[in-house]
Amino acid sequence: MSLRSLPSVDSLLQLDTTQSLIDHFGRDLTLQALRACLDDARQGIREGEADRTSDHILSCAEAKLLEWMAPSLRAVINATGVILHTNLGRAPLSQDAQAAISHLSTSYINLEYDLESGERGHRETHIESLITRLTGAETALVVNNNAAAVLLGLTALAKGRQALISRSQLVEIGGGFRIPDVMTQSGATVVEVGTTNRTHLEDFESAIGDQTALIVRAHHSNFLLLGYTTEPKLEDLVSIGDQHDIPILDDLGSGALLDTANFGLGHEPMVQESVRAGAALVTFSGDKLLGGPQAGLIVGAAASVERLRKHPMARALRPDKLCLAALEVTLGHYLRGEATAKLPVWRMIASPADAVREVARAWRQALATGEVIDGESTVGGGSLPGETLPTSLLAIDVDHPQAFLKELRNQNPPIIARIETNRVVLDPRTVLPEQYQSLLEGLQSALSHAVS
Ligand SMILES: *Cc1c(COP(=O)(O)O)cnc(C)c1O
Repeated sequence: MSLRSLPSVDSLLQLDTTQSLIDHFGRDLTLQALRACLDDARQGIREGEADRTSDHILSCAEAKLLEWMAPSLRAVINATGVILHTNLGRAPLSQDAQAAISHLSTSYINLEYDLESGERGHRETHIESLITRLTGAETALVVNNNAAAVLLGLTALAKGRQALISRSQLVEIGGGFRIPDVMTQSGATVVEVGTTNRTHLEDFESAIGDQTALIVRAHHSNFLLLGYTTEPKLEDLVSIGDQHDIPILDDLGSGALLDTANFGLGHEPMVQESVRAGAALVTFSGDKLLGGPQAGLIVGAAASVERLRKHPMARALRPDKLCLAALEVTLGHYLRGEATAKLPVWRMIASPADAVREVARAWRQALATGEVIDGESTVGGGSLPGETLPTSLLAIDVDHPQAFLKELRNQNPPIIARIETNRVVLDPRTVLPEQYQSLLEGLQSALSHAVS
């Protein structure tokens, strides 16, 4: 076949198939695809391949268009047993939070408009009273995420001066987020106090000087400090802070509003406890144990929080309206006492081992393959390191576990599972009930590929 026998763009444009591609994908994109496929065809002919007909070019163009325009963000099935999986978007929202987002996102809303006076309002007013009622704090501020909350707190209170922190808390949280780096970024000078395993109150007392602006306490996140260790209690840090007029910033990370100890787990530090202990600023994420949208919540003493609110950086870190819409509903679930019923994250944590086993058995029965075995789920999201919830897993024996995991990821929706002692295991605890059917269909299809 010669290059001259290739169809021209103009002749391709006359064809009905091209017209239907244009209807679907628009003229410009379709032209780009046709040209790219003609280039490929020319290349092919030069390399000796024959037969590049119009049909050939058109099916090439359609494949390209489908690939270019396939949605990149997709719902997936989390069968890993990690409840707050950062790579899988952390907390799924409640149905009510989702409804609020879809209702408010396509309309104008009173985001910064006071309906009573008809004048300008503030975006935080919609949720401030909910947070303060829940936590007992004087006031609250919401920013884009918890990293931003910590950065804003340090910048507004300690820029150009010193911030003290225990050496045991200079941790890396994941995704390259390191507490000392964020502290340095704020323009504060980090003063490391104590040792890696033991830091005493006296270490802080002797580190305080006239340049000290802030004492920082950070949750260890997914790191466990065990053995011959000690750290000062928050109450004690607050009391020496008070003596020198130095506020305390407590970065809780996940920040629970409910006591995880009620669900057979260890006790994750609670926001209410830090507020009661007198921390001037308490920061935590919206999409970890809170179970809401990505956000950074800052609660605490009015005098300190107001300095953050007025700082020019606050404007650059502010949350968007959809985040606030979801956050308002999420916080409402706690106030109504329905968090464990309505918030997926807490429903998963509260799910009794028996109920999980029932689901695993039902899956085994539906698939007529696999074995139900004991296993462990984890909370994740930098909370409760080393703590697990007893669970049941569906374990499947396949010849090539890695290839099977890949096959599961190829399903629609993709299924994310893991390998344990050479078997593929799926944890029902983190699978949303409305996804059970899709999961079974995906598994059936992956299994049929695996045997063929
Ligand atoms: C997760 C975490 C952060 C960061 O929170 P993001 O909401 O992801 O920005 C900061 N500090 C601690 C201790 C954390 O666990």
